[in-house]
Amino acid sequence: MKLQCPEHDAPEDAALRKAIAPVVCYPPDSLAPVNLDALRAVRQDAKHTATLKLAPRDAGCLRFDAGSFFRILSVEGPQVGDLNLWNAHDLSEHFYSGKTRALHGTHLSTGDRMWSRFPNLRPMATVVDDTLDWYGFDEFGGSVHDVIGTRCDPYTGRLLSGPDYHYFCHSNLTRALSDFTGLSLTEAEPLVHDVLNVFMCTGFLRDTGQYFIKASPVRPGDYLEFYAEIDLLVGLSACPGGDCSAEHSSDSAACHPLVIEVYDPGEAARSDHQIPLPSAYDRSHGA
Ligand SMILES: [Zn+2]
Repeated sequence: MKLQCPEHDAPEDAALRKAIAPVVCYPPDSLAPVNLDALRAVRQDAKHTATLKLAPRDAGCLRFDAGSFFRILSVEGPQVGDLNLWNAHDLSEHFYSGKTRALHGTHLSTGDRMWSRFPNLRPMATVVDDTLDWYGFDEFGGSVHDVIGTRCDPYTGRLLSGPDYHYFCHSNLTRALSDFTGLSLTEAEPLVHDVLNVFMCTGFLRDTGQYFIKASPVRPGDYLEFYAEIDLLVGLSACPGGDCSAEHSSDSAACHPLVIEVYDPGEAARSDHQIPLPSAYDRSHGA
């Protein structure tokens, strides 16, 4: 956090330096546009083929093909979810929260994409519908579906408060990935990565820059829906923070299930989908 009383004098032209207008680092119009109309036309004929219901404070995994749609659905009560994505054929290619944030901003919504880590850096999933898009940004700078938080975990829990708690999203995702793949917990844990915080309402305090959470505006029936750009293994944890209006590190928050639904437009539509290629960078790194 920045010092409230700086230890160094500002230069004479400090005001001028601070008044320089910001430049958007990665202008979104540099990215290939998403054809939402075309995706929604495919979605119209998609059939609901799979459902996974996650118990509160637990996680689960689901695998499906590129060209499918998947929806994360709020049921029963306000609940946030921590989402991980892996390439179903190569778990080392997973979601890259930091680069997605740089490309699309702190919070995702319709038309934004979830990008994979280096060296692939390609879209893994595209947001095609967001029933919470009405929220925009609130007066505190908060919004929903962030890529700024990491995932709640027992290591930070111990760092800050001491007692061990085993149902943080990091542990839930580790158990779920281990159960689904047959990997040991030790093998699965390093594959768990920073998340998309589905339905979570977060931001940075304007005066100190500190990360904040507030009660999610999500209501049962709300959903965030994606198009799978590559064959995906999806992991989702129903966070022990519940609606994340207060603390995370115990079973005290009111928690609710979350549901993942898969919608398949059929083999013909899926085979029409062009899977994005990995980055063409030659990886010579100037050597
Ligand atoms: Zn969590």
